[in-house]
Amino acid sequence: MTTHDANPCLDCGACCAYFRISFYWSEAEANGLPPELTEKVNPWLSCMAGTSQRRPRCIALGGEIGQTVACTVYAQRPEACREVQAGDEKCERARLHHGLPPLNPLPQAA
Ligand code: SF4
Ligand code: SF4
Repeated sequence: MTTHDANPCLDCGACCAYFRISFYWSEAEANGLPPELTEKVNPWLSCMAGTSQRRPRCIALGGEIGQTVACTVYAQRPEACREVQAGDEKCERARLHHGLPPLNPLPQAA
């Protein structure tokens, strides 16, 4: 088994280029996220830069979606990023959007 088999996120990155990754503005400072990697949404919310545009892609995502990717601020990433788990509903939605196969395919009807 390769590392990528063990962690499907390493050759995916779909959820970093599908949702707006927003958070209460002070979370960025508390996590040590560089301000230039965030954008203001409103007086209360900020988001990862690049994720509120029509075709979202987080500025902190390195690599190519569906190939090899890495979060360049992994330790400082906001809670919203940590909430998405490989194989959950949000993950599967993002993967589908990017044309990647589901991690938990539905069983075939008999
Ligand atoms: S969409 Fe799923 S598999 Fe892909 S990076 Fe996000 S959590 Fe990981
Ligand atoms: S901060 Fe990292 S984990 Fe979160 S959306 Fe950006 S690249 Fe993905």
